[in-house]
Amino acid sequence: MIPVTKPFLPSEKEFKSYVKSIWERQWLTNNGPLVNTLELKLKEYLGLNHMLYVSNGTVALQLAIKALELSGEIITTPFSFVATTSTIVWQGCKPVFVDIDPETFNIDPDKIEAAITPQTSAILATHVYGTPCDIDAIQQIADRNGLKVIYDAAHCFGTRYKNKSIFEYGDISTTSFHSTKLFHTIEGGAVFTRQPDLLKKMALMRNFGYSGVDTFSEQGINAKNCEFHAAMGLCNLPHIDEILRKRKYLSAHYMLRLNKLDVQFQKLQNIDDYNYAYFPILFKSEELMKESMQKLELAQIYCRRYFYPSLSTLPYVKNVAMPVCDSIASRIMCIPLYHTLTLADLDMICRLLLRAQNSDEGKALESKHFGMLIADQIESEINTEPVKVNGSI
Ligand SMILES: *Cc1c(COP(=O)(O)O)cnc(C)c1O
Repeated sequence: MIPVTKPFLPSEKEFKSYVKSIWERQWLTNNGPLVNTLELKLKEYLGLNHMLYVSNGTVALQLAIKALELSGEIITTPFSFVATTSTIVWQGCKPVFVDIDPETFNIDPDKIEAAITPQTSAILATHVYGTPCDIDAIQQIADRNGLKVIYDAAHCFGTRYKNKSIFEYGDISTTSFHSTKLFHTIEGGAVFTRQPDLLKKMALMRNFGYSGVDTFSEQGINAKNCEFHAAMGLCNLPHIDEILRKRKYLSAHYMLRLNKLDVQFQKLQNIDDYNYAYFPILFKSEELMKESMQKLELAQIYCRRYFYPSLSTLPYVKNVAMPVCDSIASRIMCIPLYHTLTLADLDMICRLLLRAQNSDEGKALESKHFGMLIADQIESEINTEPVKVNGSI
């Protein structure tokens, strides 16, 4: 069986040594030493100063909206995980959807201004599959209209933009360290901001608003994380560069092998700064996508319709037609990509996909995406020793 993703697991021995230290200290949660160490190490790894480790990526979004005191309408993307939209509604705001770009699958900045009303307070955009939104265009629109910007960067661990971690952008960026994400702490997440006041506010909010013994200076919530989750993060972080490199390597193999497939890949803006968090393929029609998905399932290979359906069709929002997103959401699927996927399995997946489309070497299509570029760039890597992560490949 080949699932769409598998969580990275460190050695049991590594994890147990942290667990032993927790037993010794008997300090389980509430800003413990492992939580503090993980925050420090993550800041160091990401090259930034302002981050708070929280209980998950959904609470991170809640904190962001609450800390910015947003109300009224929030402009957002219909192409994301459900938490992006549900959190807006949960916080008592109204999501206003703006359609996506057909090549990057991120919110289309050219369509944002038409959706702004006197009630608009912010833009909440997702860097889909780890690919940056048009950050400069979005910031200009926000500045012109006095709006706040939040990025749901749940897919973005390791992604960089203009020589900085992508988490540095927007008033607040949020991320998830859920087990299915590229870097994980079992459950977990983080908020990032370069604004010290906002950071301080969210730090208080994370812990019930406690500002001292018996003093509550902010309305807060329990958004803390615990020593056990931090221990998993501390075990995983030393492996992250291997994981990133392995994903790039596997993605390049996919791109080389699937070059003849009549599908579209996500347009990547800067292939060096991308984290290869997912491998989405966009088919010409929903039928073709389903056909391929079923053929793979017969071989016990499980892909995922990620993201489907379009969030503008959720039962608790005002349903609006989003022609680009509706179409893409119906035709896209993510194929298996994880650090222990073997080249033999990857080969089989590619063969089945090509066969489902009756493609063969004779039917070469013009390469119109970044796929070949990445493949070309790291072809030399492919021909050298494969990366070893936990003994795979
Ligand atoms: C995973 C994810 C979330 C939610 O994160 P959790 O840690 O699972 O709460 C939010 N937004 C996006 C885009 C995600 O992929």
